[in-house]
Amino acid sequence: MSLRIVYEAAGFLLGLIFGSFLNVCISRLPQKASLVRPGSHCPECESPIRWHDNIPVLSWFLLRARCRSCGQPISWRYPVVELATAIWFTIQAARLHTVLQFYFASHTAPSSYAPFAIIANLGITILGFLLIGLMVMDWQKGLLPNSFTITGIFLGLLLICAQAVFLGPTEGEVLLPAHSIQLTSVGAATENGNVFLTGPEALIGGRIFAALGAGLLLLFIRWLYRALRHREGMGLGDAKMLAMIAALLGFWPAMLSLFFGVFAASIYAVYLVVRGRANAASKLPFGSFLAAGGLVAAQVGDRIIDAYARLLR
Ligand SMILES: [Zn+2]
Repeated sequence: MSLRIVYEAAGFLLGLIFGSFLNVCISRLPQKASLVRPGSHCPECESPIRWHDNIPVLSWFLLRARCRSCGQPISWRYPVVELATAIWFTIQAARLHTVLQFYFASHTAPSSYAPFAIIANLGITILGFLLIGLMVMDWQKGLLPNSFTITGIFLGLLLICAQAVFLGPTEGEVLLPAHSIQLTSVGAATENGNVFLTGPEALIGGRIFAALGAGLLLLFIRWLYRALRHREGMGLGDAKMLAMIAALLGFWPAMLSLFFGVFAASIYAVYLVVRGRANAASKLPFGSFLAAGGLVAAQVGDRIIDAYARLLR
């Protein structure tokens, strides 16, 4: 058995546990209820759920989607959120395995490579957890709680500071070609002219500006929409969520999330109108589509942005 399977199995189990916790957040955060007290209980009859009826995914099938005490149906949202989180964690665990395998096999990778990549991996893992939760909460309750979005922004900035510590030894340096002077952390090797924001400062500062820029851009779109259509198109939560995606992934992946989100929401809106289930005045849970866009961008965004950049070159 390859080591990769062990990583994936561990990621899957950890994902099930975090998915179970995410369900608690989804049920309780929109009501501003405590996450720890009372313990797990049926939302219908409020009888406590025993541990053997509280096993992620499995219990839902064993109970045939009904409460053991009152027989009321249990939403399919529970196993789906648990499974989605488990799949996300499995993908990230497999990527972690790839990173570590490369690191231990390679004799040329700098010692800072592994921590730098592991922190990036952790950031995407956290982002998946937050986005799956936000996607469901906006869809079901029309709410994007600050305890997810603002916490995500702070975690993103914290992780980028941690990454800056492990910036590769040459990535923060500049060679001033005319004088052959080497300065640490005052200009990247590829962009010799920039001597103000480079190395760790560029990494951290860039991410702060990415989060600010993404949030402000959505606020501007929101204002524009209100000015043109004279009604509210999106909430402040959407702007905070896009800032969160930018804080954890960077500016361009956040723009890609916005593009995917708008695209998916438009298709859904057309579908609703065609089916006669909506008109121009209907409201869409845009945050759910933006969250879905963020999930796609987090997994394949780098590849799309690289391909696009190559096209322009
Ligand atoms: Zn019950």
